[in-house]
Amino acid sequence: MSQISGKDLELISELRDAEVLQSIKGHLIDQQNGVILVTCSDGDRFPEIFQHQIRLQADCRSDPRIHVLAWHGGALACATHSPINRRRDAHNVFLDQIKDARELKSIDTVVLEAHYPCGAACLFDVSLERCLALQIGAKMNVRRLNNGIRVSCFFPVYNGEKQQTFFFSREKWEIWAQKRGIQAIA
Ligand SMILES: [Zn+2]
Repeated sequence: MSQISGKDLELISELRDAEVLQSIKGHLIDQQNGVILVTCSDGDRFPEIFQHQIRLQADCRSDPRIHVLAWHGGALACATHSPINRRRDAHNVFLDQIKDARELKSIDTVVLEAHYPCGAACLFDVSLERCLALQIGAKMNVRRLNNGIRVSCFFPVYNGEKQQTFFFSREKWEIWAQKRGIQAIA
């Protein structure tokens, strides 16, 4: 599994201070009718990602209803011409899957998850900042193609065996990125 660098850990800490990455408050995400979970398929990480979603749903449902769409990179693959897709237009296939999932299951809440470090992102040399920009690009695509859908971005971070899953705030990220001259949306 990929190891996180000291530089990235410093950046994560800075993003937490700026409230770009926040603790998740499960009750703020409407999962009464379940959730479409878009996640990386990483076999070492997926079990905890799924369990985490089950725990979050316990606040609003007696039984879990999690419609999983898993592929390499999760949300990162849904940004337009994502660098982690080998085929330039592959994002359209993933976006179609989300649209179909909504129609099939009548679930209006999507959790778009990308984790860090992610093996798929490493394979294509995608930096932490770029991962976040791709995640926002994915969020915009999902919202554009699905009227009235609710989309939350989650971002689990691993430091060795230690894991923490954050809510990723688009609003705070855009302010943070603009101050630093970083592209906020990819
Ligand atoms: Zn991954």
